Amino acid sequence: MAISQNKKKKTEESEPKKKAGKNKIKAVVKFENVSKVYPGDYVALENINLTINEGEFVSIVGASGAGKSTILKLIYAEEHPTEGIVYFNGKNINEIKKRHLPYFRRDIGTVFQDFKLLPNKTAFENVAYALEVVGKTNQEIEEEVPEILDIVGLSNKMNKYPHQLSGGEQQKVCLARALIHGPLVVVADEPTGNLDPNSSMEIIDLLIKINEIGTTIILATHDKDIVNKIKKRVVTIQKGKIIKDEKEGKYMIYDY
Ligand code: ADP
Repeated sequence: MAISQNKKKKTEESEPKKKAGKNKIKAVVKFENVSKVYPGDYVALENINLTINEGEFVSIVGASGAGKSTILKLIYAEEHPTEGIVYFNGKNINEIKKRHLPYFRRDIGTVFQDFKLLPNKTAFENVAYALEVVGKTNQEIEEEVPEILDIVGLSNKMNKYPHQLSGGEQQKVCLARALIHGPLVVVADEPTGNLDPNSSMEIIDLLIKINEIGTTIILATHDKDIVNKIKKRVVTIQKGKIIKDEKEGKYMIYDY
């Protein structure tokens, strides 16, 4: 009796543990008491605490100058915190050696408002370039680039130059380039800022699709319609502080 009770207890205890381990939620980005002061005493962020878990889609919203881009720049290590720690996938970003930064950045795909495509390269070549610089073979490039351009719906425009593509199509090339290394996170800073409403929605739909496949998305945006369409977590920043963090948030404008 005692033995069987013991056995039962053991099973009851060990099963939940096993499950918890399997389903463990992993923080991909963590801000711990982070402040950022730019030269000239411009306080961009003040004591930010923020955790973004693997697989989340987080919109960071707020008025112009609120600090959205600074949050993203701290994630891809273009800027460093004045105080506090930013962790990426468990690592203190500040401790990443300069020579390791390119490797670290392969885990983060970036997309910007102003596409940043190479004008003298085709859509294919723009994406291929990201693979060339990491030493992929021609065969790998010939395989991987069309695959990724297909995901963003640009199979039929692979050989077009940026000036032959619409804004929405150019942004899709950027998205393909951001995805080419299979990143853990895609960081998008106002990716629809230069696009008409239809193209904007296409880009957001693609981000949603990429998120559904498992990539964490961190999107900074001004666009109310977009945020309200996504219906996912919304972090609202005002004057460098998080004033709201809602699981299924709405866009609220704070113009003061
Ligand atoms: P947002 O993306 O919400 O528009 P930013 O993160 O770009 O906001 O900027 C936050 C604040 O930091 C603003 O007041 C901005 O002027 C200031 N700022 C941003 N970058 C710099 C910089 N390189 N030097 C000085 N101030 C900066």
